[in-house]
Amino acid sequence: MVIQLFLNKKLTLYVVYYKLKSLKILNQMIQYFLLSIRAYFPLTAVCSKCELETIFSGLMWIRTDKRKYISYQYQCQDCGKLKYSDEFTSKGQIVALSEKCKCQGQYRRDKNIFCPGCHHRKTNNNQNEDSLYLTDNEIEHLRKIHGNEDS
Ligand SMILES: [Zn+2]
Ligand SMILES: [Zn+2]
Repeated sequence: MVIQLFLNKKLTLYVVYYKLKSLKILNQMIQYFLLSIRAYFPLTAVCSKCELETIFSGLMWIRTDKRKYISYQYQCQDCGKLKYSDEFTSKGQIVALSEKCKCQGQYRRDKNIFCPGCHHRKTNNNQNEDSLYLTDNEIEHLRKIHGNEDS
């Protein structure tokens, strides 16, 4: 019972710490990739310029009567709109959707996230690319630089 209480307290502290950390993310040039956001740890970000609150969750579990599947989150590299998709291929991990945004931008999840409202944090790297999949090595590299300052 005591241990249970202790664990609960620790978990609560951790969640509070995580939220505080999340709120700061759009203020700094720290890189975050939708691809590397872990399940159950979405980033709730308030933009330091326009104050828009955005939830970058990376992925979403969907349960139906028959099965459970994952839908991944993508961001349009032009207008910044977020979208979930369960597009799948056996060729590798999809990082860009074949379907374009209404603005003709490409939906990707391997690029640094930016504010969908005012485009704060958007850089020259936020652009359409030919590559639609990443290799395991490239994914591993993104995991390593996720949460680190842009160098
Ligand atoms: Zn768009
Ligand atoms: Zn903004």
